[in-house]
Amino acid sequence: TVHIRKLVKSFGPHTVLRDINIDIASGEVCVLIGPSGSGKSTVLRCIDGLEQIDSGVLKVNGEHLGYAEEATHYRPLPRAELRRQRTQIGMVFQSFNLFPNMTALENITVGQTLIKRTSKSNAKKRAKELLAQVGLEGHDAHYPAQLSGGQQQRVAIARSLAMDPQVMLFDEPTSALDPELVGDVLDVIKQLADDGMTMLVTTHEMGFAREVADSLLFMADGYIVERGDPREVLASPREPRTQQFLKKVL
Ligand code: ATP
Ligand code: MG
Repeated sequence: TVHIRKLVKSFGPHTVLRDINIDIASGEVCVLIGPSGSGKSTVLRCIDGLEQIDSGVLKVNGEHLGYAEEATHYRPLPRAELRRQRTQIGMVFQSFNLFPNMTALENITVGQTLIKRTSKSNAKKRAKELLAQVGLEGHDAHYPAQLSGGQQQRVAIARSLAMDPQVMLFDEPTSALDPELVGDVLDVIKQLADDGMTMLVTTHEMGFAREVADSLLFMADGYIVERGDPREVLASPREPRTQQFLKKVL
């Protein structure tokens, strides 16, 4: 689950997130849309613990991310604790970010053995299962450069899943792909949704949002301007900002 209240995040003098409120229940799929530069990636990076927030409440799986709540104040967590929290959150980026010098299988086993302390043989077994799950059975020994963008992205998803995350974050997972490769990646994400994974996805794929999301959030100027059932928001947006944006992308 994700619980965000009054989240504020600035970069120097530039306040990007002014008052963000988001709830994602267990098993819920939430799609976040908005103009370029509106702060979608920043929201995801905050939830993944990659950015420190200025103020507000950010809880993942019931725990304050990076902090422990004391009677009178929030105490920053030791790095090891934040690392533990972060293993519960999977993040997939637009640009795959696989380790180029490792095979598909090694990309999926490395986190398991180093961070989760899984034995080599169990990590390998799990990696093979995950490769099958993302439709890449038999691609164990391929290096990223030997895989298509869509295949690389599916390895990246498998690598995230290997950490057994409770929440998955996808930041424009198909934006860097040739159009004919988008479908396979969306199918994998769709399957995850059907299996009950809790997730937050930013995407320009409105068909995916309509079909898969439980809720659609439109953000602009540091706020979630409009939210609701994706079919309703896409068919009849209430806010002028949403109407303008959808006119451009639909
Ligand atoms: P896009 O659709 O292009 O991916 P976005 O909605 O994901 O855009 P963000 O990447 O979250 O937008 O950026 C929001 C704003 O914050 C932008 O103005 C960006 O320049 C700024 N920003 C993001 N990261 C940093 C950083 N590390 N330092 C300074 N400014 C940043
Ligand atoms: Mg972005």
